[in-house]
Amino acid sequence: MDKSSSNKSSSNMRARIAIQHDTLKIGCKTCGAVYFHLPEELHGFLSNWYPSRFVLDGMQFSSAEQYIMYRKCLTFGDTESAKKVLGTTDPAQHQAIAQKATGYHDKVWNGLRQVILMRALTAKFTQNEELRDALLRTGEDYLVECAHKDKVWACGEGLQDEERRDIDKWSGKNILGFALMEVRNMLRMQEISSELDPRPRGTITVQVNDITTLAVDAIVNAANRSLLGGGGVDGAIHRAAGPQLVKECATLGGCDTGEAKITQGYKLPAKWVIHTVGPVYRGKGTDAELLSHCYRNSLDLAMENNIHSIAFPAISTGVYGYPLDEATAVAVSTVKQWLEDHRDYAIDVIFCCFSQKAYDVYQACLDKTE
Ligand code: ADP
Repeated sequence: MDKSSSNKSSSNMRARIAIQHDTLKIGCKTCGAVYFHLPEELHGFLSNWYPSRFVLDGMQFSSAEQYIMYRKCLTFGDTESAKKVLGTTDPAQHQAIAQKATGYHDKVWNGLRQVILMRALTAKFTQNEELRDALLRTGEDYLVECAHKDKVWACGEGLQDEERRDIDKWSGKNILGFALMEVRNMLRMQEISSELDPRPRGTITVQVNDITTLAVDAIVNAANRSLLGGGGVDGAIHRAAGPQLVKECATLGGCDTGEAKITQGYKLPAKWVIHTVGPVYRGKGTDAELLSHCYRNSLDLAMENNIHSIAFPAISTGVYGYPLDEATAVAVSTVKQWLEDHRDYAIDVIFCCFSQKAYDVYQACLDKTE
């Protein structure tokens, strides 16, 4: 779960990825180009085999190749092979396993592969800071995969072949290269739009509801330190999720006050549950600090897991005795500040109130800080 932080720290230690600009003839024009093939060679970060962790469809993948080959197996209903793909981080094996997928049909895969490729590349380059930076530094260059034998993903010419420098001499389609260019374009558009519109991309709404009914990416549980279930919203979430939830919680080793841990949602409509432990109210300054940590840590964890909609109950305001108006002020100011600090990240935050009274308090607090 410390995916993004480890990705960041590894990028701090390693040297910046080098980019060497080359040229490509397109008709009578000469354009800039960046050529690549194997992950260990120059510009290897553009290869689907390059190790790059990301979360997609609620699962963690080790490279774009792993995701694409996993989806290839699933497309043809071969779940056994799909599982095998998930069981190794070796892209050569991913490819070999998927090559033998049962039920394979060329026309289906021809139609789907580029769309699936785009999803993998988007996740790879938005969730790995160092790779995103390197991709953007390729500028306006054409991105060209060079592999002799590959006439589909690559341009069909080798990294040493002179033919690679003339688009009319390519024997392949270079669909990986063109897809990478489109992902680069998307990253740039996102940068431009966030410069033009500096408002946070996240939203806040309040509603009266039972949190266990919400079909959001994640609901937050006001848990206790054992994470093994309890009363109030905690009990309701465990009842609705089914017994698998407590089983997974039992593997997490509890949770300190103010911290947050994530599990699957099981039978809940929400895909994930983020468990956080609010402070028992003591009327001291540390109450607000710890309660604020609950919201911040839950949102950090949500972002690490690519969660874009999340619902919070009024943490600590039940059995833990935190006065509702004081707790609401902390919840609203912390979430607002977090959204300000993460303007580029789109996330819809719902304050899920269990009563009309709580709703009125939240709404009044939001109106006041508008
Ligand atoms: P804590 O121990 O953190 O005080 P509680 O579960 O006792 O947690 O209460 C937290 C808040 O959750 C209370 O405001 C309570 O009204 C609310 N709550 C209880 N059940 C639900 C539910 N199913 N959906 C949303 N909120 C709930």
